[in-house]
Amino acid sequence: MSQAALILIKPDGLKKSLTGNILTRLSETKLEIVAAKMVRVSEALAKEHYVHLQDKPFFDELVKYLQGELHDRKKVMALVYWGNDAIKKCRELVGSTNPEEADPTSIRGSYGRITTHGVYENVIHVSSDALEAEREIKLWLDPEEIIVDLYPTKEMVTKEHKKKVWA
Ligand code: UDP
Ligand code: MG
Repeated sequence: MSQAALILIKPDGLKKSLTGNILTRLSETKLEIVAAKMVRVSEALAKEHYVHLQDKPFFDELVKYLQGELHDRKKVMALVYWGNDAIKKCRELVGSTNPEEADPTSIRGSYGRITTHGVYENVIHVSSDALEAEREIKLWLDPEEIIVDLYPTKEMVTKEHKKKVWA
């Protein structure tokens, strides 16, 4: 069954110039990329993304990490991979959370590190199950930014909606 996974190339991945490399590795999955964008991560978005870790001692540092405050790169690249067993296929290539324990040939094993503050800078995020993927994809992207219909949508007419258009 087709499944979606959210991938984030984290600020350390961007700073280390690993974007091309990571996308090449992920192309081994033969999955389809159905969304891609650069995102400036607000504190609220970072906290919501890692809400399951909010009681951990490293939470504040983790939020700063995702916001790019540790790498002078205030952005992440967000992608949605889609296809058969997407999450399992991506997680296998990405490797374990702790980069020291990750398979050395995995993306995290190849490029991750543990900082002196104890945060795992592991260059990439991938959803861990279908429920988490749905929550994360809805958090990071609007339906119109994804080229397939992943989840039910509704139409909303907003009168006071202000947005930037090309001048
Ligand atoms: N993390 C950390 N120390 C830990 C556990 C997690 O620094 O002991 C960071 C790491 O960057 C990880 C992120 O928090 O990628 C999210 O943790 P999670 O347990 O969800 O692991 P993941 O799904 O990213 O493998
Ligand atoms: Mg996780």
